[in-house]
Amino acid sequence: ATQTKYIGRFAPTPTGYLHMGSLVAALASYLDAKANQGKWLVRIDDIDPPREVAGASDSILKCLERFGLNWDDSVVYQSKQNDKYEAYLAELAQNTYRCECSRKMIGSGLYAGTCFEKSIEPSKPTSVRLNVAGALVEFNDRIQSLQTEQASEDFVIKRKDNLWSYHLAVVVDDYLAGVTDVVRGIDLMDSTFNHIHLQKMLGFNQPSYAHIPVVIQANGQKLSKQNMAVPVGVNAKSVERELKLALSLLGISVEDAVNVKDVLDLAVKSWNIEKLKGIEVVSCNVGGVPL
Ligand code: GLU
Repeated sequence: ATQTKYIGRFAPTPTGYLHMGSLVAALASYLDAKANQGKWLVRIDDIDPPREVAGASDSILKCLERFGLNWDDSVVYQSKQNDKYEAYLAELAQNTYRCECSRKMIGSGLYAGTCFEKSIEPSKPTSVRLNVAGALVEFNDRIQSLQTEQASEDFVIKRKDNLWSYHLAVVVDDYLAGVTDVVRGIDLMDSTFNHIHLQKMLGFNQPSYAHIPVVIQANGQKLSKQNMAVPVGVNAKSVERELKLALSLLGISVEDAVNVKDVLDLAVKSWNIEKLKGIEVVSCNVGGVPL
């Protein structure tokens, strides 16, 4: 048998600029790919136009370039993949049903499968849910070890407002790009169970998963676009310093290297995912103040 070549990816959502948390995620996926002689792809997860910030996609790509993170192949934009999602939604027909419940009707608890086998007028706008409640999923995370979950509700794969769920989009796109290894933030761990349900139902190979620690500020808050995490990669003079800080959050010290290219080359050589084993949170000091 031929060995599958490693294909990794970074998949930012263009709801804001690159910040220390997303730089760390980009780097971890890049270093793991390069340390395994693999390809590293970039995909823009722009399936939610209302949440998108104008110019964010271009700015993220420009910043990645400034950090020397050059991707292989061309960038995929989820906003252009509608036909693909539609085709795979059709393949899932046996395992899906339409749901007319609003968030308000469901309340704060779990969705109980109310619309399963309900006949709903075809013209009525509905969401589409995947019938998974009760199914057990297990996977062995390369960093966080064995994860097990029994699906507690049938999750939405197409929204009532006609937008695609992130779950369906990411599973289809990773499959179409031949992604073998997903390295991403631990905040997406719960989503991974949904992704594995979808992969099983669609007959896709399951990529291997590694969920990296979340970066929090010294005050304990998560770094995110929402709480105004400082953008990185904006000022050419700070790029090398920011890169070294991001690497230090991944347990890599490259103080001897002197330019972006050397820093990255040395980081690829030093990358050892084992060092992150079991780590869920790392703290950094950059919230709110310039680096
Ligand atoms: N677009 C997602 C996010 O930025 C990440 C997708 C992924 O890595 O699977 O949160």
